Amino acid sequence: MKAEIIAVGTEILLGDIVNTNAQYIAKRLADLGVTVYHQSVVGDNTKRLLEAYTLAFSRVDLVIATGGLGPTKDDLTKEVAFEYFKKKSVVHEASLKIIEDYFKDSNRPMVESNKKQAYFPKDAIILPNNNGTAPGCIIDENGKIVILLPGPPWEMKPMFEESVVPYLKKFQQGILVSKVLRVIGVGESTAAEMLEDIMDNQTNPTVAPYAKAGEVTFRITAKANTKEEGKELIVPMENEIRSRLGNNIYGEGDTTLENVIGEMLVNKKLTIATAESCTGGMVASSLINYPGISSAFIEGAVTYCNEAKISRLGVEKETLDKYGAVSSEVAAEMASGIARTSGASIGLSTTGIAGPGGGSKEKPVGLVYVGLYINGEVKTKMLKLVGNRQKVREKATMQLLDLLRKELL
Ligand code: ATP
Ligand code: MG
Repeated sequence: MKAEIIAVGTEILLGDIVNTNAQYIAKRLADLGVTVYHQSVVGDNTKRLLEAYTLAFSRVDLVIATGGLGPTKDDLTKEVAFEYFKKKSVVHEASLKIIEDYFKDSNRPMVESNKKQAYFPKDAIILPNNNGTAPGCIIDENGKIVILLPGPPWEMKPMFEESVVPYLKKFQQGILVSKVLRVIGVGESTAAEMLEDIMDNQTNPTVAPYAKAGEVTFRITAKANTKEEGKELIVPMENEIRSRLGNNIYGEGDTTLENVIGEMLVNKKLTIATAESCTGGMVASSLINYPGISSAFIEGAVTYCNEAKISRLGVEKETLDKYGAVSSEVAAEMASGIARTSGASIGLSTTGIAGPGGGSKEKPVGLVYVGLYINGEVKTKMLKLVGNRQKVREKATMQLLDLLRKELL
């Protein structure tokens, strides 16, 4: 089945609000196996809205619109949809009663215009709104289906899950089974290149990459008649991807890098401490995201200035003078220093130039050294990261944690 999404509202057109409803609906439709080729945004204008419905229905059988179900004159989505289908609307008594009760309960006067929200064609399916006053609706006119949902996301999302998902299930041919592999240590384009032939020739299952802060995920999706059949279809594809990306795949599904590391630290009965400069506590904070970390995490120090690196970690003044704070040598002394002074078996360190200022020709913005002390040895890695201050800090954190993960494997 193919669908289009129309977001209605001048606010969206002007850039005053972000069209998160379309994002949510598109993602959920993909999960449900409904294909979306077009999305559009229309202002609160009868003529253009009518054009939008006409265009959408010339291409697909299912149109989902959000916004403009409110009581005011510029809320037109419903009225124009009814006009498109040439349908008269009448008061839907049950909805009217709910709206009246809503105003009674919240001790607010109900104005005449609120009644407008209870008007629907006789054959419409009414979608209750448990989080606001405007009910949604579905009209199926000889196989051309329009689904109208309210604009506020906290009303739209529950209505979508409670009423639209069950409705769409009946159109679903087969089911979709998917599995997510999480990759770190190779960028999106490198990872995609390593899987290029797979991605070019995919049919069932399909493979879709998705990049976010320092990591890439691959979602393998199989269309099948049963869950078991779907799982079976995924196995050979998963094995092929695993054989190519190797230990760059750190986990599956909803897991996170810090969860994977946290589990390894706890299972191996290791202890850890962090000494951070440019990441400013982000490494410690990431590790602490893992709920069971208390038996492994000893201490995190943010040693930002040279004096702190010397007094807290025991970094040699000569090392700082000779190589500078942003250097492999200092990263090494920071990592071993925090392990030694805290008594942890593992020490992690970061030192770098997160920007936007502070860079030089030799040491540009984005240059970060990370250090890892483990088993009496210290390793460092030079990173050249791109992005703004926040991105450089996030990427440095992820890369250091990945260095640790690979060491613990
Ligand atoms: P109301 O009864 O509140 O008027 P409505 O169904 O008429 O609801 P709109 O008036 O279009 O919806 O939008 C109300 C609010 O909902 C907007 O101010 C905005 O905060 C949010 N909203 C509307 N459309 C979207 C969208 N596509 N994505 C995200 N938020 C949206
Ligand atoms: Mg409105």
